[in-house]
Amino acid sequence: SSRRIAFIGLGIMGSPMAANLVRAGHTVTGFNLTQPPIDKLVAEGGRGAASIAEAVKDAEVVITMVPADPQVEEVYFGDGGVLDNAPAGALLIDMSSVTPQMSQRVAAAAEERGLRSIDAPVSGGEAGAIEGVLSIMVGGKAEDFAEAKPVLDALGTTVALVGPSGAGQTVKVANQLIVAVNIQACAEAVVFLERSGVDLDVALDVLNGGLAGSTVLTRKKQNFVNRDFAPGFRIDLHHKDLGNLLSAARAVGAPLPTASLVADFITALRAAGDGGLDHSALLRNLERLSGK
Ligand code: NAD
Repeated sequence: SSRRIAFIGLGIMGSPMAANLVRAGHTVTGFNLTQPPIDKLVAEGGRGAASIAEAVKDAEVVITMVPADPQVEEVYFGDGGVLDNAPAGALLIDMSSVTPQMSQRVAAAAEERGLRSIDAPVSGGEAGAIEGVLSIMVGGKAEDFAEAKPVLDALGTTVALVGPSGAGQTVKVANQLIVAVNIQACAEAVVFLERSGVDLDVALDVLNGGLAGSTVLTRKKQNFVNRDFAPGFRIDLHHKDLGNLLSAARAVGAPLPTASLVADFITALRAAGDGGLDHSALLRNLERLSGK
């Protein structure tokens, strides 16, 4: 059924996600720090708001998709934020990738105010957001998940409740571990194959048809072959996610030796000024190491 949805954070992911909600028949009111994505949403059949307060004032569902903990803090707890302005009973769905602690704080503050909240971070990248085929990992109460599910089904094809508040974020950082290590492995193979004089394009296709195949290799092949590092998913965001991963892993005593190593490669990329590039730019470290 059609819902009144406020959508806050219309970036690389949020903009196509909001458009998919419009296409699914929902009334979507968007707010973003910059105006062009709001204009784009209006052109696609949504509505624009001049503030968070205006966007959420009669919303049944509030979705947020902002970069990291500080922005979620600001959007929910700040003056004129979601918690002070969402109508009683509204369901808050934070789809940003943040720490489990942040999701738990939002959920507790929401409950105090007669609101409900779930964490619902996503995987699948910009392409998955555009195509509406994201994987969505939800933490929260079963009844809130049941209400959110029809809305989330317009955004993703794999939508699952994985545990209580914060659990969606725990699964998301595991996702980021696997993606980072996979990109690093693919980038090492690229450097090795090129050095060996093999046709890279053909080699990556044949590798992708076997056990070495992966969504990373499918989605990032052209980035590697063409050295096209326009984001996509920015190194700065992956750095944030691996920081969240390593502190969560430390808290439960889980050693992550390979993820720690790749996290350092990502730190090195940022230090070299590449933080704004796509995470496939992990290839750049290896080119520097191999004297290219
Ligand atoms: P982005 O930087 O492109 O978009 C973030 C948007 O949030 C921007 O448009 C910005 O204006 C807006 N914003 C920031 N602070 C705000 C505020 N106070 N009020 C209103 N709007 C505000 O980032 P993105 O790539 O869309 O990523 C968003 C989240 O999704 C991040 O947590 C990221 O880790 C996660 N994610 C990204 C991808 C990807 O491939 N890009 C994939 C999965 C998950």
